[in-house]
Amino acid sequence: MKLPKTILTATKCVHSGTQIDENLGGVNTPIHTSTAFKYLEDYEMKYPRMANTSNQIAIVDKINALENAAKGLVFSSGLGAISAALIGLLAPGDHVIVQADIYGGTAHFMHHQLQRYGIEISFVTIESKANLDGAIRPSTKMIYIETPSNPLMKLTDISMVADFAKEHDLITFADNTFATPIFQKPLDLGIDLVMHSGTKYFSGHSDIIFGYLGGSAKLINQIQIAQIDLGATLDARLCYEIERSMKTLHIRVERAADNAMELATWLEANDKIEMVYYPGLASHSQFELAKKQMIGGFGAMMSFRLKSGIDPIKFQKALQIICPAVSLGGVESLIGSPYLTSHKSISQKERDKMGITNQDVRFSVGIESIDDLKNDLNQALFADN
Ligand SMILES: *Cc1c(COP(=O)(O)O)cnc(C)c1O
Repeated sequence: MKLPKTILTATKCVHSGTQIDENLGGVNTPIHTSTAFKYLEDYEMKYPRMANTSNQIAIVDKINALENAAKGLVFSSGLGAISAALIGLLAPGDHVIVQADIYGGTAHFMHHQLQRYGIEISFVTIESKANLDGAIRPSTKMIYIETPSNPLMKLTDISMVADFAKEHDLITFADNTFATPIFQKPLDLGIDLVMHSGTKYFSGHSDIIFGYLGGSAKLINQIQIAQIDLGATLDARLCYEIERSMKTLHIRVERAADNAMELATWLEANDKIEMVYYPGLASHSQFELAKKQMIGGFGAMMSFRLKSGIDPIKFQKALQIICPAVSLGGVESLIGSPYLTSHKSISQKERDKMGITNQDVRFSVGIESIDDLKNDLNQALFADN
């Protein structure tokens, strides 16, 4: 089906990428499970590891439309996307400037794999152009960012990074998992490659793992060679489930972000709470930047710091709706202590330096009724504390 070029986000979520069932007239993309394709007649060479089968293309086209990407790829996980991109583009001797507070699994990949191949990594707090000036070397090839970051919801100035990179002929890479393309479009701000852990908001129901990478045809073609070699590809049946999930991405994340905004404001006024970290609050130290680079909302991830009298474990155990669990981005609200989950392997001293305390909890706000979420937090804040 040919869609008008002018369609907007919600329409893209529902319609972009759909490969209408021409044989039967069905309105959904049929699931084509073949991993073997005829070649003697004039058929295109297809094979799922080459990421060129119809169900893979349907979801790639949908996410490309949302991120305004010329070309994209889907992978069996977010790390599958990150590893293929970095291995595909970098060579021994190359240097990468990496935002210091990126996702732990990404940092682990850089430490344990990339560095073994002679790729040099500098973890840098990217708060200003001066930080980048201080970190750049003649061998620098790429800047890697993730905004908002986990767990304190710090922002990186996407346009600033993109402008700096253009001046120095560097490739820029942005992990857009937390914001989703509904609230932030890094490619529109001058970034070269955008990545998602589709495991989070794109799947949206905490039941599918996949990854996405989008950018210019030139970069994606180069990365596709690495994907074919590394093999982190995606099965047709799963692609269909992803396509189904993505049709409701906008309404899920908009509702979750509305809940997050209201809860952040409410928590900030609660005298059992020390501090709330949410980019949509005027008290967030980068609220102006948030308004500049985020669109139509501020996402549904936040953290808050419990006052010292409140035991964070007892608090989480007392919750009846919000589930203490690792991961994020589902329709259900999830909560967790960074010191016991994402930042467990980091020493207390390092966490102190990062400003992360044992009283901090990270909150992936879901789409439940706001009153039930408030009541649940309230009863747990008073339970036994
Ligand atoms: C989960 C996550 C990843 C890794 O994605 P997987 O799908 O688990 O491989 C990368 N970045 C961010 C921000 C994440 O939350």
